[in-house]
Amino acid sequence: MSTQNKTEKETEVELFGDLGTTEDGSPVQPVRMAVTDQFCFSCHKDVPCWNECCHGADITLTPADILMLCRNLELTPTEFLTRYTVPATWDKADLPVAKLKMGGADGKGACHFMNEQGCSVYDFRPSTCRYYPLGLATVKMKGAETKDDFHFLVKESHCKGHAESKIQTVTEYRDEQGITAYDEINRGWMDIMMKMASWQSLGGPWGEQITQAKKRMFFMVSTDVDSFREFVFNTKFLDTYEIDPEAQAILKDSDEALLMLGFDWLKNVFFNEPTIQMKERVLQGAIAQAREEMGAS
Ligand code: SF4
Ligand code: SF4
Repeated sequence: MSTQNKTEKETEVELFGDLGTTEDGSPVQPVRMAVTDQFCFSCHKDVPCWNECCHGADITLTPADILMLCRNLELTPTEFLTRYTVPATWDKADLPVAKLKMGGADGKGACHFMNEQGCSVYDFRPSTCRYYPLGLATVKMKGAETKDDFHFLVKESHCKGHAESKIQTVTEYRDEQGITAYDEINRGWMDIMMKMASWQSLGGPWGEQITQAKKRMFFMVSTDVDSFREFVFNTKFLDTYEIDPEAQAILKDSDEALLMLGFDWLKNVFFNEPTIQMKERVLQGAIAQAREEMGAS
């Protein structure tokens, strides 16, 4: 079947913060907030709901979250994933993710990082915990080259922080919560999630499903930078792609640089974006093979 007329759809997804549903079950429409918009909110030990939101929370871990938690808890990604996460699928993009494991047999108990004082990993808590009660959504109009991010406010009845008198802008809240540094690391991952979500109604990019092997690669890059480093330096990766010696030296030491390479590579593999360059010899071989498969001489 021809995939010529299969194009990416106009789409809008929430990357952080679930909008939930209204009382009649219909989805809540996000109210866009500009970064200069103000909102009233404060969370502190004296709110009556203190730590309520740290029970049964649905927290998808971003690559930056896992990187920072591993670094500060002095755990390898494998140790961290085994102890503190459960595998899941982010349905909007049909991609595998790791979620923070909650306590209790039903997963409705306290987060494993919660103690009597509050969050034991507060300085390196996950992005979702930083954003709350803000959400981040991203929208891409059909045919548009770029996408547009916007914030929205999540107002849940159990959260009494909205009744506090502290007023701040979205930017002030983002700065206070240290969100930007996390977003910078996660940018490529968020791009992939968004782009895959926009192809979902067609089943995948240009109507082709992403293979299980590619999904496993996405999960490895997103959750286990040690394994991705092994993959880059101990397989044919460096024989296949143009990565100069200076960049290779940086990649040996920098997890952040390695993640950026991983997302560029995935964008190329998933969407054929020119984010990473194949070596000329490999490229010519791939072209010849594709021609052969198409029956061209
Ligand atoms: S990581 Fe910290 S802030 Fe986030 S749910 Fe767990 S205890 Fe709460
Ligand atoms: S105010 Fe909201 S964010 Fe703070 S502890 Fe209560 S429910 Fe959680």
